[in-house]
Amino acid sequence: MHNLLQVKHPKAPLDCVFFPMVDVLPGRLVNVIGNNACPTVALTPQTVRAAFTKEEDLFAKLSVQYLFPLLNLEDRRYFRRQMFEAWEPLLGLSAEENDSAIEAGFTAQAAYDASIRRKAREVLDALERDGRLGVVLLGRPYHHDPGLNHGIAEELQKLGYAVFSQSTLPLDEDLLDRLFGEEVRAGVIPHALDISDVWKNSFSASSNNKVWAAKFVARHPNLVAVELSNFKCGHDAPIFSVIEEIVERSGTPYFAFKDLDENRPAGSIKLRLETIDYSLRRYAEGLAQRRRAEARIGRWVAEYERRLRARLDPGPPPRASDAAPSI
Ligand code: SF4
Repeated sequence: MHNLLQVKHPKAPLDCVFFPMVDVLPGRLVNVIGNNACPTVALTPQTVRAAFTKEEDLFAKLSVQYLFPLLNLEDRRYFRRQMFEAWEPLLGLSAEENDSAIEAGFTAQAAYDASIRRKAREVLDALERDGRLGVVLLGRPYHHDPGLNHGIAEELQKLGYAVFSQSTLPLDEDLLDRLFGEEVRAGVIPHALDISDVWKNSFSASSNNKVWAAKFVARHPNLVAVELSNFKCGHDAPIFSVIEEIVERSGTPYFAFKDLDENRPAGSIKLRLETIDYSLRRYAEGLAQRRRAEARIGRWVAEYERRLRARLDPGPPPRASDAAPSI
């Protein structure tokens, strides 16, 4: 905000700064209590307003309008009204213009979401084909920022691991059926996108995504989990052990970088990543051995079945012309 008002504004005057308080996010999981953003994050625009109006109202002084509406992105009716109330006085738009702009926005968002999940599926298929490992980052949206994640995602990529985000894992039906179908049919969970079997207080969107992504990782043989957390996060604390148990119970490697903000020297993170790389290489070797053993057993079973069938069904009786000549 300081940069916008004090650096950008003098060069290219701003009419308005839009910094919405996003309270509810769109969610893909089912049967959750809510999809709320962290209140600390959601209300940051209010804190910013307080900071920039405390001694003098800097927005008024610079003739910059500050828009910080509360938004519910999950309920389209609320969202339309909230956006209209925020923008109508400034743009003088009609309700129809407001609605069509919002629909265009959601259409673009859905196309982006689908494209990134499609890409994630392609990468996952390639990992399965080649017997390689990928890492799912279990972290909040801001952990994609290299300034906050200390470059951990990039380093893992450099070490040869495909890195997936917890929010954009593929949701194709065939894949979900492969990972969760048995539990759904057995009645353990009502739906592949349900987390009620492991997490009941499902009101935080990021926590819900994190728990579901942990379940996904635990069921996929080519994925491992790296959890990131900052600032002694009040939302992460209650699910640390849930996540760890979900992932480790399946025998899947789980690594965690907690309290990332505590100015850790880059060297110690690099060292830790090298250790992770070493243990993942060992894990990958074990997986490859298992794949080879499974393939060998598969071949034996097929051969055994072929012989059994041949014994049970010796084929059609020989024709008279095939009979050995009598002497
Ligand atoms: S660290 Fe946790 S509690 Fe703090 S702002 Fe981030 S999500 Fe919210």
